[in-house]
Amino acid sequence: MKIAIIGTGYVGLVSGICLASKGHSVKCFDKNTEIVNQLTSGVCHIYENGLNDLLVSSAENISFGILCDETENQLVAFDAVIVAVGTPTVDGKTDLSQIGEVAKMMGRLIKSTDKYISLIIKSTVVPGTTDTFVKNIIEDESCKKLGHFGLGMNPEFLREGNAVDDFLSPDRIVLGYEDEATLDILREMYRPWDCQKVELNSRSAEMMKYVNNTLLATLISSVNEYANIAREIGNIDFQQVMYGVHLDNRWSPLMEDGTKLFPKIIDYLKPGCGYGGSCFPKDVKALSALAEEMLIPPKIIDAVIAVNDEQPNYMIKMLEHKVKDLSDKRVLILGLAFKPETDDVRESVSLKLINLLSEKVSSLSAHDPVAIENAKKQISQSVNVNYIDDWQAAVGNTDILIIATNWMIYKSIDNLASSLTEQIIFDTRSLLDSNLFNPSNYLSVLTKK
Ligand code: NAD
Repeated sequence: MKIAIIGTGYVGLVSGICLASKGHSVKCFDKNTEIVNQLTSGVCHIYENGLNDLLVSSAENISFGILCDETENQLVAFDAVIVAVGTPTVDGKTDLSQIGEVAKMMGRLIKSTDKYISLIIKSTVVPGTTDTFVKNIIEDESCKKLGHFGLGMNPEFLREGNAVDDFLSPDRIVLGYEDEATLDILREMYRPWDCQKVELNSRSAEMMKYVNNTLLATLISSVNEYANIAREIGNIDFQQVMYGVHLDNRWSPLMEDGTKLFPKIIDYLKPGCGYGGSCFPKDVKALSALAEEMLIPPKIIDAVIAVNDEQPNYMIKMLEHKVKDLSDKRVLILGLAFKPETDDVRESVSLKLINLLSEKVSSLSAHDPVAIENAKKQISQSVNVNYIDDWQAAVGNTDILIIATNWMIYKSIDNLASSLTEQIIFDTRSLLDSNLFNPSNYLSVLTKK
């Protein structure tokens, strides 16, 4: 099948390369010339495990192009056009301007041809976007009704850091559609995938994505709030508390052979410094705004947001309780990406900690294996951060070491535990083995106050 992808960021690029690896003929378009040039030279512009190798091995099935007024008529050559442009939250609401721009362009294209082309929205959009907002724009621009063109909604559930595996071996594939011909196209597109496929209308597909992300964010905020309460009560072993909670068969089923199955959901039931990234923060806010529009007070959703917004402040409060005076302290932040195995720093808690600490400490250094360049673009010039390559060498010259992203390379700090007697280790991700450290200089959300 000939597939075009509009928007070649994290989702568009991973989708394009993975679809090409299954034998489809794919062309990824972006309006950013720099991105397109880099990809055309065979190098991915994002860091994602295994992605570059898959690009090289699928090279004969994939190409890249710039999308602009002069090139948009190239899209007529494709059976399906997948849209993976950004849908940021602006003033708490989803900004659909990038989707609107693409819909307008597709309307012009559909007007100019008799060919049936199916537009499939992969970007995360609020329920009703595909069957109303997008459909209306295309119909107005093309002066043609749905049926002369197709519409679908295929939400993406990949997790950055594990994106290639998630795309190639998904838990399920969601095929949202507004016309039967689009459903046929989606079935054909994902024929090489042997997993459960859910077929439903586009607004149900859109809703599924929001419920999925908001429910996971709810677990994270809930557990963070419980952990904070436990710390303030004092003398509570919250790690043991949660271990006991996880043993509930409804979280961790007992297998026939008597062993316990600890499913991935347990990872969302561990306290930390809060959620970040390009999806959870914006998607949870978008669902809240949508609820308000529907006159449903989003009480739980807003509480999830409020707890998460507060969590970095609570981290600083914990540190100040331990250290008292931060003003003469040299701080080393380990990890800038919002999670390990990605260079994405959007809404990274690490950057929030840097902003909160910048006025309070004597100096700030930061390390990340792949995300430094992206972080430099996000952190204000007025915040003085010394970005370092050799974090191990810097450990000796620091007073406070903060693990902000649980990259596995930082796990090697366990081996330094006996020599790190002068530094405070603040393990916001509970990555290290706390038993190896002296409680007087080790701090995590799981340590007692
Ligand atoms: P991104 O910012 O990395 O990529 C978007 C790309 O679209 C950019 O490269 C931009 O230049 C391009 N673009 C914008 N308008 C364009 C136009 N008119 N023509 C051509 N190109 C255009 O965003 P992303 O992280 O890939 O997210 C894309 C969508 O997927 C969002 O709706 C997001 O919520 C959703 N999503 C993201 C993830 C994730 O982990 N990143 C996971 C699931 C869903």
